[in-house]
Amino acid sequence: MDLRLTGKRAAVAAASKGLGRACAIALAREGARVAICARDRDEVEAAAEADGLVPFVADVSTPEGAAGFVRDARAALGGLDVLVPNAGGPPPGGFADVSDPAEYARAFQLNALSTIAMCAEAVPAMQAQQWGRVVAITSIAVRQPIPSLILSNTARAGATGFLKTLAREVAADGVTVNSLQPGIHDTDRIRQLSGGATSADGIPAGSVGRPADFGAVCAFLCSEQARFITGAAIPVDGGASAGLQ
Ligand code: NAP
Repeated sequence: MDLRLTGKRAAVAAASKGLGRACAIALAREGARVAICARDRDEVEAAAEADGLVPFVADVSTPEGAAGFVRDARAALGGLDVLVPNAGGPPPGGFADVSDPAEYARAFQLNALSTIAMCAEAVPAMQAQQWGRVVAITSIAVRQPIPSLILSNTARAGATGFLKTLAREVAADGVTVNSLQPGIHDTDRIRQLSGGATSADGIPAGSVGRPADFGAVCAFLCSEQARFITGAAIPVDGGASAGLQ
């Protein structure tokens, strides 16, 4: 299927590796021109060179860094049609491990305010051009909080509330706003959290997710064909979350 993304201009945050990089590669394979960012210059430049992307060094955990990446991407690409808000994940721990409320503020900066700042910078121009796609990467923890990740659970719920509200407000302007909720995928983040190896325990599909499959879902949500999907928070988890919603 031709997703009709040829020539579309995309900014994918936190994308020198892992799920962000997979989204950037999938969009580029569909013919989009893609800008990416990360904090490590060598890694983001190497990824961009390997995959034909435009690299920027940015830390999206500050509002200035997040908005600055979107501004730089728009300037480099001559406009913006697609935004994929993404960032790293906060440190692990449950309630008893996270005693300082400032840690929640940092997690909120990383996983909620970053998304808000990127959308604030990108969406008004998408509305003006009557076409835009926002696909944020959150976590399956929004649907089913993970006991050992209280910071992630808390911040991503906030981001999801923001995205749902935004989606309904801008739907009439040709802009769709959705989020993807990854379950366990084979990335550095998951290997770090699990102490090295990834496990398919509790995943009905019988394996951990491949980042490339996740990227393909992102590309579809950015397509012309997905124009009627907005306000959705879609699990990509091999069936791991067991609830009806
Ligand atoms: P990853 O493999 O560790 O990759 C993270 C990417 O984000 C790297 O390119 C990293 O580069 C960049 N990054 C991290 N912090 C950043 C910041 N403050 N500003 C700019 N770039 C930043 O992680 P991942 O597994 O792809 O996860 C992506 C997101 O999905 C995370 O929020 C994670 O918690 C969430 N998630 C992942 C899974 C999964 O199965 N992988 C499941 C649930 C949720 P630099 O370090 O150079 O900045």
